[in-house]
Amino acid sequence: MARTTQNASKSVGLSDYRQRSNLSREQILALINGVTDDEDMELDEQEDKPESEQESNVTDHDQSSIYCYRCHNGGSLVTCCRCTRDVCAQCLGRLDFSAIQDVWSFICPVCHGEDKQLKDEPYYAFYLGRSIPAVQEPCPVVGTNIGPRKAFCSTAPVVILSFRLKSLGNRGSVPLMLRTHLESYFWCTDNLHYHDIVFDFHTVKDAAIHARRMKSLVPNVRLVTFIYTHSNVHTGDLYHAHDATSPIDEWFNIVLTDEFKVLCDKVSQHWMFILACGAIVNNNTARMHLKRQLLEYKVPFAFGFSAAMFNAHLSSDFIIHFATRVIIQLAVPLRHTMARMLNMSFSLRLHSGVIVFRYHNSMENTPSITVENYVWHHPNLAPGGMRIPSQCPDCMRLGTLKPIKSVERDTMQYFAGFKCKRCKWMKRKWVSYDPRDGNLVDKVNGKWFLDIIDPDDGEVASSIDADAPEDDGIKAEELYYARA
Ligand SMILES: [Zn+2]
Ligand SMILES: [Zn+2]
Ligand SMILES: [Zn+2]
Repeated sequence: MARTTQNASKSVGLSDYRQRSNLSREQILALINGVTDDEDMELDEQEDKPESEQESNVTDHDQSSIYCYRCHNGGSLVTCCRCTRDVCAQCLGRLDFSAIQDVWSFICPVCHGEDKQLKDEPYYAFYLGRSIPAVQEPCPVVGTNIGPRKAFCSTAPVVILSFRLKSLGNRGSVPLMLRTHLESYFWCTDNLHYHDIVFDFHTVKDAAIHARRMKSLVPNVRLVTFIYTHSNVHTGDLYHAHDATSPIDEWFNIVLTDEFKVLCDKVSQHWMFILACGAIVNNNTARMHLKRQLLEYKVPFAFGFSAAMFNAHLSSDFIIHFATRVIIQLAVPLRHTMARMLNMSFSLRLHSGVIVFRYHNSMENTPSITVENYVWHHPNLAPGGMRIPSQCPDCMRLGTLKPIKSVERDTMQYFAGFKCKRCKWMKRKWVSYDPRDGNLVDKVNGKWFLDIIDPDDGEVASSIDADAPEDDGIKAEELYYARA
């Protein structure tokens, strides 16, 4: 007899379509504003408190880091007079800090390297004015720089908001993991705040209590938002209760609320992760509605996942690299930074592509959202960016699907995919590179490609190596949020 076990599902996909319940925004507003004569509907703030802790508001907006940007260690630190980087005594050859005089300016190795006058001169660390060494001997810079050369080590205030469907549970969740990971940097500050915002709306009253609670959230920080709920695998509609969905715009309205919209307008940086099944980003209509909401909420970076049955915990390695690279080291998650984080995300790449929604707001143009689609290609595991299924969908044999890599003679267009060696069933996709050339897509690590989506029809307009050099052939440097 086959051995089976029953286990709680961590996947955020539900395949059976369920009836939508009816929560109108007007009814909720009427309740919040007390414009109702129904005695039973009065809001009780004590009821249904989330089981998790709700932390106090951030009062201290300290922007300075408490770790050395080079070695990510604490101890005696000196702050650069030109940027926010701190450097520890160890990295400066066990410098005696008691000898530092008030009139000296400390210039960190990064700012020294960016100063036209200083960069080719020996490094003295302390200067009088802009460039006169304040000390006799050059300063040793020792030990290894654990981040890229220009990276920061930032513990500026961060708020993690996890909008979590109650039935998904918090233990072992990705938002909680992010908090635990960041705690290793923030443990001795009051700068990391985590709010587990649980929802499971069965009545209008549930939603109204939630909306009132949203009013106490904190502005003027860096914000990480998780949308952690099920989505309908066909329509992409999001669940607001364990057994009911709403269309995306309604869901944003009822769960994220207007209070959150106000918050989005005030925060200095904001990254949103949508931990829901792929339909919300793959279904054209759902993606269009999502884009409209992200535009309205002015979310600078939103990350969606394209796996049809998305398993949130398989994104955890990507979230960890994101935390270190973006939240701590302050790299902007543009193409090259994305490619480098994705290249280290071993469980994510086998499971899901990543869709990045970027908010653009410039003086000349009306605000808009662009969509970048990151897809992992591997010559044997994911030809053309499609994971080879274990079973042929036509003849139902196991292990008969083999990769195909070819070129169409007439058009010289390349394609990759897979074909059943028994029944000849096949699936293929055009690719932008010659898949027969084994040097282009690494056999061990594969390669992430960036599909540029045509804004009009949602189709792939072009596809490029995500970490390829810019047009001028120069390997592009990653961009950082803060500059000297
Ligand atoms: Zn150090
Ligand atoms: Zn500096
Ligand atoms: Zn077959």
